[in-house]
Amino acid sequence: MAANYKKVNRGVTLTLWERLYVMEVLRGIIITGRHFIRNWVSTFRSYMSGNPAGRGIMTIYYPEEKPVLPEAYRGRPMLVRAVDGKEKCVACGLCEVACPAKCITIVGAMRPDGTRYPETYMLDGAVCIFCGLCEEACPEEAIVMTHNYEGLVEYDRSQMLYGKEALLVPEEKLKGRLDYIRRRMYNKCNY
Ligand code: SF4
Ligand code: SF4
Repeated sequence: MAANYKKVNRGVTLTLWERLYVMEVLRGIIITGRHFIRNWVSTFRSYMSGNPAGRGIMTIYYPEEKPVLPEAYRGRPMLVRAVDGKEKCVACGLCEVACPAKCITIVGAMRPDGTRYPETYMLDGAVCIFCGLCEEACPEEAIVMTHNYEGLVEYDRSQMLYGKEALLVPEEKLKGRLDYIRRRMYNKCNY
């Protein structure tokens, strides 16, 4: 079957009107001006009506305003701390194997009660590509992708090497994401 592509026409001959450029430049200015005035009027109207979020403009005043993220958004991966205060992670190493960026390093150990836990869990945030494969691989819902997109930048890459304590977040704070992966990911995989 023939490939479905469009050939770029490199032999375009500009008309005299287009070669004058002036009218094309004016046309660009008119389009930009139209967007500017439309956004300005809609912002003014929404503020006057007491509903700043209702303006038609696509940009937001970050960081005063925060974007509404889709449920599936994959921000910084974090570890889940169970309600008993322990890590949910059992140091099975599946996330470490699944990670295509090789940014997870785990050293497992045994608790006195015979359960496994990660003695050390290192995640290199400078290398992570936010693919979410660690979350998908985890059999314990112990690592999840959060909506945290802030605080991911540092002046020094060594500051982005997150240890277990920097990654652990109480389970109740991750409820939204845990609900999402139970609803979407597990159902999709027919578990
Ligand atoms: S999101 Fe992807 S790259 Fe980042 S730690 Fe998880 S598996 Fe590795
Ligand atoms: S986070 Fe999940 S997949 Fe990774 S080692 Fe812990 S239990 Fe295993």
